[in-house]
Amino acid sequence: MPRHIVCLTFDFDTQSGFIARGMTTPTPLSRGEFGLIGARRLLALLKARGLRATWFIPGFTIESHPAACAAVVEEGHEVAHHSWAHVPPAQQSRAQEEADLVRANEAIAKLTGRSARGYRSPSWDLSENTIDLLLAHGFRYDSSLMGADYWPYRARRGDVAELGKPFRFGEQTALIEMPISWSLDDYPHFEFVRTAAAILPGLQSARTVMESWLDEFRYMQQTVEWGVLTYTMHPYVIGRGYRMLALEGLIENLQDAGAVFMTMEEAAAEAQARMF
Ligand SMILES: [Zn+2]
Repeated sequence: MPRHIVCLTFDFDTQSGFIARGMTTPTPLSRGEFGLIGARRLLALLKARGLRATWFIPGFTIESHPAACAAVVEEGHEVAHHSWAHVPPAQQSRAQEEADLVRANEAIAKLTGRSARGYRSPSWDLSENTIDLLLAHGFRYDSSLMGADYWPYRARRGDVAELGKPFRFGEQTALIEMPISWSLDDYPHFEFVRTAAAILPGLQSARTVMESWLDEFRYMQQTVEWGVLTYTMHPYVIGRGYRMLALEGLIENLQDAGAVFMTMEEAAAEAQARMF
């Protein structure tokens, strides 16, 4: 019996990503603040469609916007870990990374009554310590790597990549990797970013992007009997009106095509039972 799972995931960063990059003037901060409006719209859309999703919420957002985060919990969505301060682990020492991990997990436990089962790194850049730390702190899954598309796989530690030498795979761990891709993330498609170093144009047609995202699902249906497709969105990005309409259309098409919507924790548990 074919079964094709979709995980809708929302990285509820609000202002945290801008602060982590030193962009603390009023306009970038307000850009993150718009995520509060986006989150309300997304919760209403998910409720209308009868869907539960996974919200990766930084500790910063939980402590800065408690009512908005409580609304996510009240609607029955999964809350997963997305650091406290939205600093990528690859930029932190092991001690800094662990302290941030623990602080954010305490905020999640206070909000939801339990520790996070899943983790997604800010800006999708793990350190060489992240997998170890996630295992030590009881996580079941990570969602920050790009080594597959429709199949969860076991995260490895100890890969060796040295210039001029063949790649050596490290050992597989019990941590389940729920793979992601920038192509299935709203941010690079839609956000206009101008810095001293570069301009990211973004601002693409929302319906065109959603058409590509639907094609990913169709290809999964054509090529595998069972799989998980993960879409990554940010309330301050996808929450704009024309993008919300396009997302609504995507969800409708996915439902018509037979997608099984699950939280990432549920999908990871099904992957664990089925694959390992
Ligand atoms: Zn983020």
